[in-house]
Amino acid sequence: MNFTLSEEHLLVKRMFAGFCSREIRPHGEEIDRSEELLPKVLRKCTGQGFWAALIPADYGGAGMDILSYMLMLEEIARADLSTALTVNIHNSLVVKSLMDHGTPEQQERFIEMLASGESLGAFALSEPAAGSDVAAMRLGATSVDGRYCLQGSKSWVSNGALAGLFLVFARAEKGITAFLVERETPGLQVGYREKTLGLRGLSINTVYFDECTIPPENRLGEEGQGLRIALQALSLSRLGVAALGLGGAERALEEGVRFSIEHIQFGVPIAKKQTIQNYVADAQAVTEALRCLVTQTAMLAEAGQPYSQEASIAKLFGSRVAYDVTDLMVQVHGGYGYMKDYAIERYYRDCRALELIEGTTQVQQFLIARDIYHREGLDISI
Ligand SMILES: Cc1cc2nc3c(=O)[nH]c(=O)nc-3n(C[C@H](O)[C@H](O)[C@H](O)COP(=O)(O)OP(=O)(O)OC[C@H]3O[C@@H](n4cnc5c(N)ncnc54)[C@H](O)[C@@H]3O)c2cc1C
Repeated sequence: MNFTLSEEHLLVKRMFAGFCSREIRPHGEEIDRSEELLPKVLRKCTGQGFWAALIPADYGGAGMDILSYMLMLEEIARADLSTALTVNIHNSLVVKSLMDHGTPEQQERFIEMLASGESLGAFALSEPAAGSDVAAMRLGATSVDGRYCLQGSKSWVSNGALAGLFLVFARAEKGITAFLVERETPGLQVGYREKTLGLRGLSINTVYFDECTIPPENRLGEEGQGLRIALQALSLSRLGVAALGLGGAERALEEGVRFSIEHIQFGVPIAKKQTIQNYVADAQAVTEALRCLVTQTAMLAEAGQPYSQEASIAKLFGSRVAYDVTDLMVQVHGGYGYMKDYAIERYYRDCRALELIEGTTQVQQFLIARDIYHREGLDISI
């Protein structure tokens, strides 16, 4: 497989890099401090087509291929991780599910508002007792007079405060089922906003459903297909998290290298100390390995090949690389790395979440091991 980016992809990467460093990066600290995505930044994202990335051109979208999309996520993550995760959730989990499983009527109803950023998407899967074990979810979808009545709650719904459309998974008569629920639907209430270690621009909320009645036209796919829809979407968003890890690691390395050149100890820049050089070299090596994984998996996905195991591998490796590299670069900064004046402090907190979201590290390990043993004829599922 050839990992060299084509002229077209290089152009796309340069364009996103330029935009993100001009329009998003200068606001990263403010996003963290104010704990919200800034409307002026969101408007710029709309102008750049971020919300329409995966919508085909004949639906008025940007029609990006998967590799371009990953390059875009990487560059946004270099500028700000909260914004990057918002874009990943909106596109990989909500828009893509609608494009893959929606009826033409559903696409006509929702695509335009999602593409324009007028409405952001949120993905409501987790519950307090159903995180890794999503099949244990309890949110009920009871049939009442030909409609569905949702009763229960979802926890930690990212984009909760901003979203206009929630992709909600609930237990119907034939099993877990996906529903498109508009924010204004009576009975849906966006509740408590979590206080978080990092990714503070992201609004993570509990969402309550109290006799929230929705028509069958809002069901995505067939009854009982919800888990399949969720897992398919999660493959793409896991690859997206790996791209976020790549952008996060690159930014951390950039911050560490600059600091090590400017910071003087014992009369010389600390970059002249071999231990610092080793940290930087190790960080660069794993970052480049991650780039190959993301590129390879994006190419597989674009070619229409199965890629869920590769996405798990990329996510497992990418979230660790992001954690390890930000940790090393905090060390390069010494005490300054612990201070809010330096971007590395924020990246260290933000990147920590990547091992938790969209399936924890342990869940990825299980999925990868399950495939390996399956090929050997052994079922390790409980
Ligand atoms: C920043 C952030 C944003 C999020 N956004 C969303 C969102 O938009 N939508 C949404 O639906 N959810 C969201 N979540 C929830 C996230 O998906 C869950 O946190 C994640 O799936 C893990 O579930 P849990 O936290 O309940 O942990 P648990 O499943 O309770 O796990 C606790 C620990 O046990 C380990 N563990 C669990 N089962 C096993 C096993 N079988 N083998 C080995 N180890 C195991 C886990 O890896 C973990 O270390 C978000 C979470 C965070 C932190």
